[in-house]
Amino acid sequence: MQPSTRITTLLDGGSDGWEVFLKARALIAAGTSVTELTIGEHDIRTAAPILQEMHRTALAGHTGYAAVPGTDALRDRVAERVTERTGVPTRRENVVITPGGQAALFAAHTAALDPGDTGLYVDPYYATYPGTLRGAGGVPKAVQAHARHAFQPRAADLQAAAPGARSLLINSPNNPTGVVYSRATLDAIAQVCKAHDLWLISDEVYDTQVWEGDHISPRALPGMAERTLVVGSMSKSHAMTGSRCGWIVGPEEVVGHLINLATHTTYGVPGFIQDAADFALGLGDPFEREIAAPFRRRRGLAKEVLAGQNTVGLVPAQGAMYLMLDIRATGMSGEEFANALLDTHRIAVMPGESFGAAAAGHIRVAMTIADAAFVAALRTLCQFAESRAA
Ligand code: PLP
Repeated sequence: MQPSTRITTLLDGGSDGWEVFLKARALIAAGTSVTELTIGEHDIRTAAPILQEMHRTALAGHTGYAAVPGTDALRDRVAERVTERTGVPTRRENVVITPGGQAALFAAHTAALDPGDTGLYVDPYYATYPGTLRGAGGVPKAVQAHARHAFQPRAADLQAAAPGARSLLINSPNNPTGVVYSRATLDAIAQVCKAHDLWLISDEVYDTQVWEGDHISPRALPGMAERTLVVGSMSKSHAMTGSRCGWIVGPEEVVGHLINLATHTTYGVPGFIQDAADFALGLGDPFEREIAAPFRRRRGLAKEVLAGQNTVGLVPAQGAMYLMLDIRATGMSGEEFANALLDTHRIAVMPGESFGAAAAGHIRVAMTIADAAFVAALRTLCQFAESRAA
């Protein structure tokens, strides 16, 4: 039996960019010690009080089918938080709870695109983006954000790509670049969306990890609330990656359709997970700052290490749990560098090419190991780059 074209072409015959990561994991499985700076997962686990709340509410009986759109309490909590942080009046009816940000990305594109419609996304991009667009029936089309523009997408490039497209997917703070989109970039994005009648899908899962500048949600820009679907998640902000809890915030009418989609796909998110998420959001800013603190600190440490050399360039590290390093001075591609670093020093980083052509000649470093080991790995990485450049 032949599976569907939609599923067999999800990766478009290409790789999913995880080869170096898998190679590192295979070495580890074979007993070799590897310093992993690859995936976007905290080096702490979900906090005990959140797990205790999960346990309490599960024991209290919240283990049956939960309300498909999300519990009233969690939808209200998300709506309040969004209203407070963006100034855009947001109600329960604007929110649907999803099993994580990834499911929200898929649902948002299903809502925005008809089969065969073009959906734009910005390259460098989070690895699942093109596959998510294809899975939702769309045709992904990349708009490059260039290293020479500090990876901020340019109005002219967006305008050139927009005719005939139906949606644009952006991510700020950005994975993999660590860049936070400026007000000017977001104004240009809003302009293009309005001029070409595009849905804007704004992936804001790193909105609590901002080290420089401000996170601006484009839903708050004039005329954008009616055409913006914001993707949010508990994964990064609350160290709840395994809980699979996120949301979409958007216009009431489309949220109604998204609830129908949830009824026919996920049938909601477990009630005890939603209760724990509601509790976690109730911990407010101080807790979110505590979860973000190690990345802020390591970003400072990385700046000190990198200041002592000039072979490896640091892309402005403004947010998210990653550093994007420019290793073009070595004459190697990101893939060559990442493979050689793993082979020589047992340090695993992600090649920039895994996140799109625009990130070629770069590597992504996840700031997800203890400070001392992180600094030592960065020092070794810089020495390795210097030796290759020489
Ligand atoms: N969006 C971006 C940019 C990400 O980096 C990730 C995870 O790494 C996700 C979405 C998905 O996160 P989750 O499904 O855990 O909410």
